[in-house]
Amino acid sequence: MIHSSMNCTKCKTKAVMKLPRHNAAFCKPCFNHFVHDQVEKAIKSQAMFGPDERILVAVSGGKDSLALWHILLALGYHADALYVHLGIAGYSERSYDKVQYYAKMIAAPLGATLHTHTVEQEAGAGIKELAQLVHRPTCSTCGTIKRYQFNRAAIEKEYDVMATGHNLDDEAARLLGNVLHWQEEYLDKQGPSLPASVEGFAKKVKPLYRLTERELAAYCVLNKIDYIVDECPMAQGAKTLLYKEVLNRLETESPGTKQYFYWGFLEKQRKQSATSAPATMAEKDQTILHPCMSCGQPTTAESCSYCKLMARAKSAVPH
Ligand code: SF4
Ligand SMILES: [Zn+2]
Ligand SMILES: [Zn+2]
Repeated sequence: MIHSSMNCTKCKTKAVMKLPRHNAAFCKPCFNHFVHDQVEKAIKSQAMFGPDERILVAVSGGKDSLALWHILLALGYHADALYVHLGIAGYSERSYDKVQYYAKMIAAPLGATLHTHTVEQEAGAGIKELAQLVHRPTCSTCGTIKRYQFNRAAIEKEYDVMATGHNLDDEAARLLGNVLHWQEEYLDKQGPSLPASVEGFAKKVKPLYRLTERELAAYCVLNKIDYIVDECPMAQGAKTLLYKEVLNRLETESPGTKQYFYWGFLEKQRKQSATSAPATMAEKDQTILHPCMSCGQPTTAESCSYCKLMARAKSAVPH
C-alpha cells in the first residue's frame, strides 16, 4: 500500500495511499480530507441528514462502523452509537472491547454516547442458541434482531436517523447478488438513503457508500482506530464474500468498475423515481401496516417478526 516513490496528487509531499479508481495518490492529511469529502458528498447528495439532526450509528467493532462514527464526529455531527451484543462466544467479547475502547477514549471526550443492547439479557440466550431454538439460520435470526433493536433504539431515544457502515464493496456485492437473481423487489429498496416510510420506522442511511473496504481499512490504520479484524464466525461461506472477490478481480483489471456499477445503478434509480407516478412505497406501506399487538412497532401481521421470534423461542424452552 505504501509506495515510497509516489507523491501526493494534491500537495506533492510523500504519498501513503494510492487510489487507482481516482487515478490519485494521497499523503495522510489529503487522504483524510478525501475520505471526509466523500462522506459529506454522500450525506448531501442523498439528503441523509442536516447538521442539527441526531444520528444513531450501528457499530459492530469492525473497521467500517468505527470509521463511520469517527468521520461523523470529525465532521461535527451529533452521532451516538448502538452496539448489539449477540453473545457469540469469543467474537462478541472481543468486538465489544474494541467498541468500548473507542467510545471511552475518543467518542466520550467529544460528547458522544455508546448504547448497548445485550441479546442474552432480553431473550435469555445468545444468538446461536436462539436460532437453534426456532430452527432458523443464525444470520437470519440475527438480522431480525438487529433490525428490530436498532429501529427500536432510534425511535425510543428519539434519533432522527440511523446510520450503518455499509461501504461501496458491500453495496456493489449486494447489487450483483440481486441482479444475478433478478430480485427486483430488493433492487427497489437498495438505496443509500431510505426514508422513514411510516411512523415507527426510523430513516436509514449509508454514508460510506462512496468508499471502498480498502480505503476504510487504510483510514482506520492511519488514524489509529483499533478495530476487530476477524469477520463474525457465522459469516463464513456467505455468498457476499464470493461476489466481493469477483468484483475485486474486475476492479484490478479496470479500476473504477465497482463505483461505475453501483453509482450507475443509483443514477438510474434517481431518474426512474423522478419520472414515475407518485404511488410511493410509503403510501402503500401506510395502508397495510399497523402496530404490533405486543410491542407497538409497525407490522403487516398481528405481531411483528421480532415478537414472533421471541414467542417461538420462549415456547421452545424446556420448562
Ligand atoms: S455474520 Fe450472521 S450472525 Fe454474524 S453478525 Fe452477521 S448476520 Fe449476525
Ligand atoms: Zn497531500
Ligand atoms: Zn412486536
